Amino acid sequence: MDDSIRPIDFLIAYGPVIIAWIGLSMTLALPAFSLLSAFLQTILILLWSYWGHRFIHTVSAIYPISLLNSHVSIHHDHVIPVPQWFNLILETFVNFMGFFFIVIIQQLTGIHIFSTSLILGAAFLYITIHILDFSLIGNPGHILHHERTFCNYDPEFMDTLFKTRCEPGTPYRNMSNEILHSIFAFLIAMGFKTMLHLD
Ligand SMILES: [Zn+2]
Ligand SMILES: [Zn+2]
Repeated sequence: MDDSIRPIDFLIAYGPVIIAWIGLSMTLALPAFSLLSAFLQTILILLWSYWGHRFIHTVSAIYPISLLNSHVSIHHDHVIPVPQWFNLILETFVNFMGFFFIVIIQQLTGIHIFSTSLILGAAFLYITIHILDFSLIGNPGHILHHERTFCNYDPEFMDTLFKTRCEPGTPYRNMSNEILHSIFAFLIAMGFKTMLHLD
């Protein structure tokens, strides 16, 4: 199936949300970090959210690692049967820690590359989209990720760039509605930044 990138369709479907995410994310890192640093942090965190998800599925394809990783054993495969509310609360925590892990590593090593508020913004955005939108409301692309595992890791523009869409021949999903999610997530992060004087 043809999975070459269609540039005009790419810009229409993903351009607005990419601009919003980069702009809002960079705002969280300012003024403690420079514009260039804030930009690079944003790009790295976007790559982290896609590759982190892809990586844990790759390593968890091996038994018994598959059981240890609750994103795979509980959220995906339901190996351990739990009520859906528990699955989603656990998955929210796992998603949060997937980002907050970076803050902990920075504290432990004393190497401070990422803005804490930017990390929080990315974590809240991931949770807002994955738990609220994809899991509670339902999203056809994410349902395919749960059925086939090794595609549609999301965000979709990353799947398009790295050629992991489950159905590459189909039109791109217009992601502009997720600008709303990002405003919501980044406002909460901005609240924490202001209240706790985070960088
Ligand atoms: Zn997954
Ligand atoms: Zn899911």
